[in-house]
Amino acid sequence: MMDRLKQIGEFGLIERISKGCLVRPERVIRGIGDDAAAVTIAGNEVLLLTTDFLVEGVHFLRRAVSGIDLGYKALAVNLSDIAAMGGIAREALASIAIPEDCGIDFIEDVYRGMKALAAEYDVNIIGGDTTGARSDLVISVTVTGRVKREVMLCRDGARVGDIICLTGYPGESAAGLHLIINRVGADTDVSDHLLHRHRRPRPHLLEGRWLAGMDGVHAAIDVSDGLASDLGHVIRQSGVGARMDASRLPVSNPLKAFCQHLGLDPLDYVLDGGEDYILICTVSPETISALSAGFEKKFSHPLYQIGEITASDHIDLVDERGETRMISPRGWNHFRRG
Ligand SMILES: [Mg+2]
Repeated sequence: MMDRLKQIGEFGLIERISKGCLVRPERVIRGIGDDAAAVTIAGNEVLLLTTDFLVEGVHFLRRAVSGIDLGYKALAVNLSDIAAMGGIAREALASIAIPEDCGIDFIEDVYRGMKALAAEYDVNIIGGDTTGARSDLVISVTVTGRVKREVMLCRDGARVGDIICLTGYPGESAAGLHLIINRVGADTDVSDHLLHRHRRPRPHLLEGRWLAGMDGVHAAIDVSDGLASDLGHVIRQSGVGARMDASRLPVSNPLKAFCQHLGLDPLDYVLDGGEDYILICTVSPETISALSAGFEKKFSHPLYQIGEITASDHIDLVDERGETRMISPRGWNHFRRG
């Protein structure tokens, strides 16, 4: 029987197609499987490469998004992958497939959004491709970055005893998406904030760069699929486990208010909400107190410490009553949804 994408999933597909891709493996430090690919170019200088699709009907609904927000996000998700490697973003290529019923003013807005973010982080948009499409708008952005090899952050560096940290609040973007999908009335400070966090996620390039330059930061990943799911990548690739304390998971005031109002559990959003584009990092217990003090001084908010890396092979969550349960990520898999 012919396998379909829905059955084998994104990671099953990657496993099948990745064999035989590298014919010159010598300079490839990271191929498929980290936030960005990493190739040595000269000495200890590493070139980072990452690419992402935004597909109408899968990642966004054209009637529910402005061109500016869409362009901003298409670039932001790529910059976030460079941030997760501890890199500096440099150049971008943007390609777009334009359906017949899509106005050119919308496309100009997409580029307006991209250019605004690119300017903020000193990134050149140096090329790309445009083509027609039948019905769906598709945007593909590729970004290059650079980083020194000795400070580059990867998913596989977590060590038993490391403290698991977050550079910002998880779950807000998914709450914003909930508001859009369910057409919940907006115009309050809370919903404005959550919608903004969904539409304009700020890539944590400054945070990633700062963390990479500090002693004792062993691993990093950005939160694209959800905290549980993305931490899952770190533990699998590092050959370790993790324990998180529910009481230490940061819940922002807007997310609290949103959940209270709608009778939802904030923990579901914090653990499984995707597209926050904050960073998860793991830090040696010896350096954590100096590092978190330095982080707070630099970024004016805490580096949230949410748990520890363990010698198990899964993620445990300790709830408020001290009871432990194993969590399995329900994070987003675009191919399996819908
Ligand atoms: Mg990523």
